[in-house]
Amino acid sequence: MSKKYFQPEIETMSEEWIRKIQDEKLVKQVKYVYDNVEYYRNLMDEKGVKPEDIHGVEDLHKLPFLKKDDLREAYPYGLLATDLKNCVRIHSTSGTTGKRVVAFYTQHDIDLWEDCCARALVAAGASNEDVCQVCYGYGLFTGGSGLHGGSHKLGSLTLPMSSGNTDRQIQFMMDLNSTILCCTPSYAAYIGETLKEKGYKPEDNKLKAGIFGAEPWTEEMRRDIEKSLGIKAYDIYGLTELSGPGVAFECEEQSGMHINEDHFIAEVIDPNTGEVLPLGSKGELVFTSLDKEAFPLLRYRTRDICVLSRKKCSCGRTFVKMTKPLGRSDDMMIIRGVNVFPSQIEAVLLNNGYAPNYQIILDRVNNTDTFDINVEMNPDDFSDTPKVITAKEKQLQAAMKTMLGINPKIHLLSPKSITRSEGKAVRVIDNRKRLGITI
Ligand code: ADP
Ligand code: ZN
Repeated sequence: MSKKYFQPEIETMSEEWIRKIQDEKLVKQVKYVYDNVEYYRNLMDEKGVKPEDIHGVEDLHKLPFLKKDDLREAYPYGLLATDLKNCVRIHSTSGTTGKRVVAFYTQHDIDLWEDCCARALVAAGASNEDVCQVCYGYGLFTGGSGLHGGSHKLGSLTLPMSSGNTDRQIQFMMDLNSTILCCTPSYAAYIGETLKEKGYKPEDNKLKAGIFGAEPWTEEMRRDIEKSLGIKAYDIYGLTELSGPGVAFECEEQSGMHINEDHFIAEVIDPNTGEVLPLGSKGELVFTSLDKEAFPLLRYRTRDICVLSRKKCSCGRTFVKMTKPLGRSDDMMIIRGVNVFPSQIEAVLLNNGYAPNYQIILDRVNNTDTFDINVEMNPDDFSDTPKVITAKEKQLQAAMKTMLGINPKIHLLSPKSITRSEGKAVRVIDNRKRLGITI
């Protein structure tokens, strides 16, 4: 039977109650961390703050921040808050921005994480009558296990495909009537593209919704995926350090993701000064876990840039909403002194009728940044006449200039010439790094 919420009493509780729960849990979590993690105790002592100073969320700002570098420094066991014998699982980040970090889970941690993923599935319309095809990678990456566990909790029929082998994904999707698809948005777009190539129309599959996350994607890409697969596409956000996918999830409004505030407190800060910003400001997202046993994190700086909102949501959920991450603070490229996010480039491509298959290549020649974008032509629109290609490149370059303020060099390539990703897409190749330039 289809329900509207996985845990209605939690997902729709009043703001006052959310706050009360957060106050109580925070006090406990801080004491637990201080008593059990030496690394934290040192950080708090350095800042001159003791667990007794924390009476609730209003005191959160007194705590020190934790950064990814701390996790790397404390690797592997330095932030573990319980005996290893109490842990049942280890996961690791994808290493998108450097050395991987590892996170530990007790069974209790796994249970809460899976609840969060089940909430996301229900918000996307899933129930125990659905067939949930999970093609996020299984293994160290949290995507596969997270959605898999959520699907089990919900009682959906779970198809643990993992990523890759697109022909087999499509065969099972068709033969076993998958109704919910879970993968990265770039892989969803690829599946859509492959279905079309095989001669399937969007209405030929039984899919009704997809839960796509783990990497940035734009509204344009959402429309594209919804069209090619004939589904509703929902965003899901999370990071390994906090558990994995399901820290926040989108509801039927498709206008931002509800943060599971009974398990996490969210703050937005100025990434340069660390100052906490008022609701509605754009800044770096910082999370404090409230219930974790193995790997609790206080004021963890995600480096994801977003905006929070408490505007009433028509779905009835009361949890605060975050916008799609507008990029990572470390995902921003500085090209010839101008800040550029891959998402801006993607938006221009999709608005100009190109698929989101592109790669940005940066280098520095004679002390000047070079900025090249390889873009595939659409099969429907393909031409190998140099004159036509040049005209199209010029047109796209002008559109990029309008959006970004600087001129990239566009290279239109034949369809399928850019390697497809089955997990997180690699969008940027920054050769300036070889020169030791840290941007
Ligand atoms: P890594 O930092 O190595 O990629 P993870 O695999 O844990 O490690 O990925 C977490 C990161 O993925 C987040 O901090 C965020 O930058 C990105 N991410 C996760 N979900 C989304 C999403 N829905 N939209 C945009 N970015 C996302
Ligand atoms: Zn909602």
